[in-house]
Amino acid sequence: MCAEPLLAVLIGPGGVGKGTLARRLTEEDHGLWLSRSWTTRAKRETETGDEYVFVDRETFERAIDEGRFLEWAQFQGNLYGTPVPTDTGGADVLLEIEVQGAQQVRRYYDHVVIFLIVPPSMEHLESRLRGRGDSDDHVQRRLQSTAHEIRIGHELATHIIVNDDVERASGEILSILEELRRDRRSLA
Ligand code: 5GP
Repeated sequence: MCAEPLLAVLIGPGGVGKGTLARRLTEEDHGLWLSRSWTTRAKRETETGDEYVFVDRETFERAIDEGRFLEWAQFQGNLYGTPVPTDTGGADVLLEIEVQGAQQVRRYYDHVVIFLIVPPSMEHLESRLRGRGDSDDHVQRRLQSTAHEIRIGHELATHIIVNDDVERASGEILSILEELRRDRRSLA
C-alpha cells in the first residue's frame, strides 16, 4: 500500500450538492474520512450544527496563527478552513471546499484528486440555492459567483462530475477513487 493517503477534494458552486455527495461517499466507502471544516459564518436555520465547527473570527484567526489548518480561505465575507487531519485511521481524506482552498491543497500536496461538481442546469442550481433558506440577496450573490467558481474549477479539476443524480454521481466518483487506489497499490 502507498503510505500517503489520497486527498480527494470536491469543489463546485454553492447549491450544487457537494455536501450531500460527500456524506453519501463516506457512507458508501469506509476507506474515506470526511473532514469537518471550521467557519465563521452563522449557522443557517436549516442546519443542525454538525455541518461545521461554527466559531467566531477571533477563534478562527488564532487557529490560523497556530498552524491548525491544512488550508483556509475567505469566501463571501466569512472564513472557512480545513483542520489538519488527525485520527483518520489511515483512511483517504475527503474535503468539500471552495476553489481557493483547492488551489492551496493542490500546491502543497502530491496525492490530490479534485472533482469539480457541476449542476445539470442553472435552473436546477438556483432552485437548490433557494431551498436552503438563504436570503434573496445571498442567493443572488452565490449565483453571481457561480461562473467564476466553475471557470477556476475547470482549471483545477482532475475530473468533472455532473450531479444529475446523487447515486449516479457518487458511483462515478467511487469508481474513479477505486481505480486510483488500484494504480497506487500496483506502484507500491
Ligand atoms: P456554505 O457557506 O454554503 O456552507 O459554504 C460556502 C463555500 O465554502 C462552499 O463552496 C463550501 O464548499 C466551502 N467550504 C466549506 N468548508 C470549507 C473549508 O474548510 N475550506 C474552504 N476553502 N472552503 C470551504
